[in-house]
Amino acid sequence: MRLLIVLCCLLAAAVARADEVRIGVLAYQGSERAARDFEPTVAQLRRTLPEHRFTLQPLDAAGLAAAVGRGELDFVVTNPGYYVELESAHGVTRLATLESREHAVPTDSVGSTVVVPNRPGHAERFEDLAGRRVAVVAADAFGGWRVVWREMAEAGVEPTRLAALVETGFPMERVIDALRTGRADAGVLRTCLLEELIAAGRVRADEFAVVGERPAGAFPCRLSSRLYPDWPFARLAGTSPDLAKAVTASLLTMAPVDGRAWTAPQDYSSVHALFRTLKIGPYEYLSHTTLRGLVAGYWPWFAAAAAALAWWLVHVARVESLVRRRTVELTREIQEREKAEQAARLHREQRDQFSRLGILGEMASNIAHELNQPLAAITNYAEGMTRYIDAGRTDTAFLRDGARGIAGQAERAAVIIRRIRGFVRRRDARREPLDLDLVVRETLPLFAHAAARRGIPLLLRLDGALPPVQADRIEIEQVLLNLLQNALDATPDGVAHERGIVVTTAQGVAGVELAVRDHGSGLPPEVQARLFDPFFTTKPQGLGLGLSICRTIVESHGGRLTASAEADGGATMRVVLPPATEEPR
Ligand code: ADP
Repeated sequence: MRLLIVLCCLLAAAVARADEVRIGVLAYQGSERAARDFEPTVAQLRRTLPEHRFTLQPLDAAGLAAAVGRGELDFVVTNPGYYVELESAHGVTRLATLESREHAVPTDSVGSTVVVPNRPGHAERFEDLAGRRVAVVAADAFGGWRVVWREMAEAGVEPTRLAALVETGFPMERVIDALRTGRADAGVLRTCLLEELIAAGRVRADEFAVVGERPAGAFPCRLSSRLYPDWPFARLAGTSPDLAKAVTASLLTMAPVDGRAWTAPQDYSSVHALFRTLKIGPYEYLSHTTLRGLVAGYWPWFAAAAAALAWWLVHVARVESLVRRRTVELTREIQEREKAEQAARLHREQRDQFSRLGILGEMASNIAHELNQPLAAITNYAEGMTRYIDAGRTDTAFLRDGARGIAGQAERAAVIIRRIRGFVRRRDARREPLDLDLVVRETLPLFAHAAARRGIPLLLRLDGALPPVQADRIEIEQVLLNLLQNALDATPDGVAHERGIVVTTAQGVAGVELAVRDHGSGLPPEVQARLFDPFFTTKPQGLGLGLSICRTIVESHGGRLTASAEADGGATMRVVLPPATEEPR
């Protein structure tokens, strides 16, 4: 039986609750004051929507937030600051905004007035409050502190620069008490409280001065801050839309009480801006230097940096790919050039060898003559020794001398053959310090016989004290033999013979000189102009390569090969080589 009664009671309570519409209201000046202030609103709702049971639940800020969080309310009436926090945290939505018909801008009426005792030299600007104690009703009050905090922060006076923030608690008139008792140097009042207190005779009209005062325009009270929209009437996320619609309609048709009524919901973005500036409430994360906070606060910069980074990466990748492609191209070009150079070198070597073989062909009679001498000497030795033995003589000393003579002559022949082979063999150029006089002396025997056969005198005018040149012996011999052969070819049989071919060495200004002067046909201008061109020849059997090869050889030594026609007939071919100390150019 008792159980049945309890169940009935619970059921009745549940039915009653189901019909109840709970309106939470911020009771910043105590429950009674809140109930009194919003009684006309609740009365309007009860009258127009009698099927619902509206109850007013005055709560402090924390209690209001907790009740909203738990979904224990259907509607909430609070100051713009808390509203923005509840909107961000719990999806609370405004249905109407309180307006005051007394104001020219009825909906913008929340702001602050900062006051100081009206003494000579009192603070006038927010900057003057640095180092002072400021009395506020509560540190989390909207019109009582945060509104002024924003103005001070924008004036460069952060709360950290104040000597103290003195919290007086409600009612707000206690801020005045704190100033009168000297507990604080300045105080923050909501707009119009100063005027209300003066009207009520609780504050003398000239007792306080306003700090940071700004033009109020049509607003009837003195101001230290910009104005924000008044309190909103808001619904919770879970409140039924039909009920919200009915409540809104009822609020908007409510007759003003004491000049205050509900109007269409206002724009609270200015309140958001305040929270964002102060990095509090829903924007508190901005004060933490978390990655998220940084990204949220500076996303345009991050986006720009990311774009720059992306551009840079693309640029680097592009440059790298270009460099890689160019490197491949260059490597290929270098390989091709090396191959071409190698082919050219081979070709040059073959050509030089060919040329040397050519000279050798022309020298064949010289060589035969050269070899003839040791061979004849060997024959002489051998015949002498044979006769000696046939005569029955047994003097071994004579025979030993003969054998030695034979060996010596054989060695001489071997030297000639070695030189010829060395001259013809294909080889790499080898530079060494050379005495040009010695080279001339050693080369001439290969040529002397040919000149002698034609009865052309060969004269040497050697310097005898030349500095060495850094050169390849075989190549210089090749040049000299070529010049001598050309001189011989140019010298006709006849009277001019007697003047012969003159080989001169001397130390000139430009280097060591080697000149081959003949008294032959000379150099007509058309011949002199083309002398060094490959394949230019005036000889029936000529190839026209000799002088062009000679010039290449001389220039590869850093020297010069020139030809000049002589006034008294004949020509002079002149080789100039740099001394060994100088680097070849
Ligand atoms: P080649 O001897 O096969 O003709 P060269 O290049 O040695 O080729 O000589 C080219 C030409 O230069 C010769 O045909 C000749 O007309 C001319 N020449 C060279 N040396 C002399 C010289 N000492 N006097 C006159 N003409 C010369």
